[in-house]
Order: sequence, then structure tokens, then C-alpha cells
Amino acid sequence: MLEITKEQNDRTISETILIEEKRIAVCAKCNKKWNVSIYRQIPKSGYICPSCMEKKRNKVIKTALKWVCITIAGLVLFDKASEAAYIERGYKAYGGEYILLLFPVWFWFIESVVNDTKHDLKAERNFKND
Ligand SMILES: [Zn+2]
Repeated sequence: MLEITKEQNDRTISETILIEEKRIAVCAKCNKKWNVSIYRQIPKSGYICPSCMEKKRNKVIKTALKWVCITIAGLVLFDKASEAAYIERGYKAYGGEYILLLFPVWFWFIESVVNDTKHDLKAERNFKND
């Protein structure tokens, strides 16, 4: 037990000394130069700096939260529409309110069309300026 601890201590000391040996890596996202350990494995797709990695992580969290909210909105709208349809009809039936369960799909479709249109307009504007 004592030997393992000694070995771990030795390894920690040797790693600390080797940390001084750094190399420069250019972030594939922001193009900034970063000092990285010579032992750091850099993927073929390129080095991503801690700052860009955090931005990417935050973006994933935001996207997940957005879709959870959209799904909940679809369920709430469906619930309200079912109540209104029941009051209107006076009996339980399956009607158009069920299309609200596809609210996230509609949202995704409309968002894609809007983003594509924005992208096309931007590309067209850049083409005219050149
Ligand atoms: Zn970066």
C-alpha cells in the first residue's frame, strides 16, 4: 500500500516537471493559439480550446432546453385544445387537436425554412456585394 502511494507521488512529480514541455495548438473554431501539454491527444478534426468547448457545451444545453420547452408547449396546447373541443362538441372524439402533438415537428420545419431563407438571403447579399 505504501509503495503504491510512493509510486503515485513519483509519477505526479514527473508529470509536473513535464508539464513545462508545452506545444502550441491552434483552435479549429476560434483560430486562437493555446499552450497545450505535449501529451494532449489532438483529434484529426483539430484542437478545440476550452473556451470553444464550453460554448459548444452551452449550445447543446440550450438546444436541449429549447426542445424540452417546445415539447411541453405542444402538450399544453393539446390539452387546452382537447378541453375546448370537448366543450364545443359535447362528446369525446379524436379531432384536429391531435395535430398539436406534432408541434415540435412543425416548429422544427418552420425553423428550418426560416433559417434556410435567412442563409439564402445572406448569401445573395454577399454575392451582390462582391
Ligand atoms: Zn477556440
